[in-house]
Amino acid sequence: MHHHHASDWSAQALESLQAQGLRNGGARRAVVEHLGEQPCCKSAQEIFDGIRGQGGRVGIASVYRALDQLVELDLVQRVELGDGVARFEPSHADGDHHHHLVCDDCGKVEPFSDPGLEQALEQTASRLAYAMRGHEVVLHGYCGDCVPPPPAGSG
Ligand SMILES: [Zn+2]
Ligand SMILES: [Zn+2]
Repeated sequence: MHHHHASDWSAQALESLQAQGLRNGGARRAVVEHLGEQPCCKSAQEIFDGIRGQGGRVGIASVYRALDQLVELDLVQRVELGDGVARFEPSHADGDHHHHLVCDDCGKVEPFSDPGLEQALEQTASRLAYAMRGHEVVLHGYCGDCVPPPPAGSG
C-alpha cells in the first residue's frame, strides 16, 4: 500500500469536478482543499471551523451542501464512528484507505492501517463467497493519554 501526498487527492478531486462541469469556486474548492490536508476524518463543523480559521469565507450550509455533493460523486467518504456524528475524509479511487481508533474517554479519533488486517478481510470474504466492495473497521477503547477503568471487582 502506498501513501498519497495530501494535495494529490485535492488536485484530482478538483479535476474530476471540473470534468463533470462543476465550477470549482467557493465552498466546494475550500472543502476539497481543506480535506486534502487532513490526516483523518473531520465532521462538517470541524471542516467549517478549519476553513474559517484559515480565513476562508464560507457558510456552514454551503459546507454541508459541498460535502453531500462530494459524497454523491464518490470523491469523499462518509465515516460513521458510532457517536452519531458524520465525519468525512478523502476517498481514493485506487482503494487506498485507513481505519479508525476511537477513544471512548476523550473522544480522540486516530487513523491506522494494517496490511495483515486487509488480507484477513479479503480471505474472509473469499471464504464466504462474498464480493466485498468495502469494509469499515473501528476499534473502540482508550488512547495512550487515557487510563482504562480498573476491571470490575478489583481494588
Ligand atoms: Zn480517517
Ligand atoms: Zn481496510
